[in-house]
Amino acid sequence: MIIDMLNDFVHGKLKCDRAQRIIPNIRALADAARKKGIPVFYCNDEHLPLDTYEMKLWGPHAMKGTEGAKVINELTPAESDYIIPKRTYSAFDGTGLDRALKGLYGGKGANTVILTGLHTNMCDRHTAYDAFVRDLDIVVVEDGVDAFTESDHVSGLDYMTKIYGAKVRKASEIIKEIED
Ligand code: ZN
Repeated sequence: MIIDMLNDFVHGKLKCDRAQRIIPNIRALADAARKKGIPVFYCNDEHLPLDTYEMKLWGPHAMKGTEGAKVINELTPAESDYIIPKRTYSAFDGTGLDRALKGLYGGKGANTVILTGLHTNMCDRHTAYDAFVRDLDIVVVEDGVDAFTESDHVSGLDYMTKIYGAKVRKASEIIKEIED
C-alpha cells in the first residue's frame, strides 16, 4: 500500500521534506511487487469541503479534483494498480478496501499488508489499526514511511510494533524476499 504520496503531502499544502528519502524506496518496492504479481494499492486522500474534522485541523488539502490530490510524478501508478480514494486517516474507513483485499488471489484474499507512505504516526498508523482488527499481518517499511519529524516517525513505528504487532522492515529486505 502506498498511502498519501500526493502533491499536497510531498510538495504542497502539507509539504513534508522528509518524504524525499522514501520516494525511491517505495518506487523500487512497488516495481518489485508488480513484477511478481503482488497487487499495489494507492490509498489517496481525496477530500470534500464537507470533511470538516480534518479541514479544521489541517486546512484544505488533497481536495478532490485538484493537482494537490494527485499522486506525485515520481510514483505514477501502473495500469494494474488499484486506486483507493479515502476521506479520513485510515485507508479502510468507508473505502471498500477490505472487500478489495478479500477478492485478491482468486478470492483467497490477502493475509498481509505492507505499508508505505505518509505519515508514520497518522494515516499509516490508523490504516494499521484497521488492518490489525481484520486479522491481517502488518509489515511497515521503515525507509518507506515517514512523518514531519524524526520523533513523530519513531513514535509511529513504535506504536504499530507494540500495539498492532507490526513488523518493521527495510524496503531492500522485502524486495530481496519477493525476488527469491
Ligand atoms: Zn486528509
